[in-house]
Amino acid sequence: MVVAYHHEPFTNFGVEKNKQAFKDALAYVNTQLGKHYPLVINGEKIETDEKTISINPANKEEVIGSVSIANQELAEKAMQSALQAFESWKKWKVEHRADILFKAAAIIRRRKHEFSSYLVKESGKPWNEADADTAEAIDFLEYYARQVLEIKNGVAVKSRSGEYNQYHYIPLGVGIIIAPFNFPLAIMAGTAVAAIVTGNTILLKPADATPVIAAKFVEVMEEAGLPNGVLNYIPGKGEVIGDYLVEHPKTRFVSFTGSRAVGCRIYERAAKVQPGQIWLKRVIAEMGGKDTILVDKDADLDKAAASIVQSAFGFSGQKCSACSRAVIHQDIYDKVLEKAIALTKKLSVGAPEDSGTYMGPVIHQASYNKVMNYIEIGKKEGRLLIGGEGNDTSGYFIQPTIFADVDENARLMQEEIFGPVVAFCKARDFDHMMEVANNTDYALTGALWTNNREHLERAREEFHVGNLYFNRGCTGAIVGYQPFGGFNMSGTDSKAGGPDYLILHMQAKTTSETF
Ligand code: GLU
Repeated sequence: MVVAYHHEPFTNFGVEKNKQAFKDALAYVNTQLGKHYPLVINGEKIETDEKTISINPANKEEVIGSVSIANQELAEKAMQSALQAFESWKKWKVEHRADILFKAAAIIRRRKHEFSSYLVKESGKPWNEADADTAEAIDFLEYYARQVLEIKNGVAVKSRSGEYNQYHYIPLGVGIIIAPFNFPLAIMAGTAVAAIVTGNTILLKPADATPVIAAKFVEVMEEAGLPNGVLNYIPGKGEVIGDYLVEHPKTRFVSFTGSRAVGCRIYERAAKVQPGQIWLKRVIAEMGGKDTILVDKDADLDKAAASIVQSAFGFSGQKCSACSRAVIHQDIYDKVLEKAIALTKKLSVGAPEDSGTYMGPVIHQASYNKVMNYIEIGKKEGRLLIGGEGNDTSGYFIQPTIFADVDENARLMQEEIFGPVVAFCKARDFDHMMEVANNTDYALTGALWTNNREHLERAREEFHVGNLYFNRGCTGAIVGYQPFGGFNMSGTDSKAGGPDYLILHMQAKTTSETF
């Protein structure tokens, strides 16, 4: 028996002791910068000539570390090692697999601020966002370890007299885990361990921009007792090893978090049955969002405005769940806009290492260019009221940006920007709000601010998103509390941190014995 799951609390940096502990951790991580991280295949550390240099997006000059890059030959070696390890790992007692996750959670909890400091450095997360990322990684470990214990005996099915029927879940095989840069610890670790704890073996390809934090996680899993070959760490280029592994006949499933374009590409390529392939591959995809906060005319306007600002600009808007559309009832539109602008003016943009920074940079040059391009588009599609400026001299900084009076079908209202840009759109009435809420290809998160019970119940039915929030912002789902994932082009609605997530990594087997 294990104690009940409870999510990892966030650190209160208002407490001086916590603040100091975080500063100490940052200072320690500063002494660790510039190290080299090899590939890990079957426990073997492999150096390659080709390397990726991971930099601090807030300070391009600062190297976080360098990592070896896998080519196809090494990807194949990793596949063979995962295939071999699967034969023994799948037979491990479920409890023993779960114990490795519990131990890994304990190791990360003990070194929590150190992990968060790597996130500050490598992904440009301000303290609180980094702290939440680390807490979520711990949550995934704790939650999935418990979940697997719950499902280990399968589900009871009926038996007639003289027969004994059983229904069990068994592992799938080798999975390819392709992780995003935006939750480089939480989502990377969560998707990896969900696959592992259910008895599969994996090839982990971290995001190009955040391979060091993933390497640190791989060290933890090794320390926690994970056998060789179960988790193979292979950073590499999507075009070189990503496609190769997605198309590999021995790949059993792909768990991907990232853009819609890459997700669709993976889905298509994984669908094609290759020579020698004896199954249909499974794809778990968490893709983009174009998430809306609706504000009804009788809502608490101060809280609504604050939630828009926080959901739009937290981690520079680089969350699939980020609010990039605020749809406001015409009666209170000007007021909410005014309040949102006043709050945005107070936000400090700067080095994520400084405790007072609200918003750091975006992840890299390509992202900076993309967001700045959308800002130019926004200038044609709406009224720029605050922000709109960027500076990529030393890091990739973009001011939090609000556009007003944007048409519901404008590009700014339809396309995922993945940066600190939010479009305000005026709605005639509640019917119109519902209509706009559902008018994109995506359906990940959404929120409604209202004190009207009838509207709330209508939204519960009609607002078609995977994560719907009432009277709060649309980011910050907690593992085990708000299972996370979306409909339509947001992905396969595989609910990370939810009760049925692990089953996506397994297949059900019925046995029926006659006495
Ligand atoms: N789970 C996160 C949230 O609820 C977002 C994850 C993502 O951006 O991929 O804010």
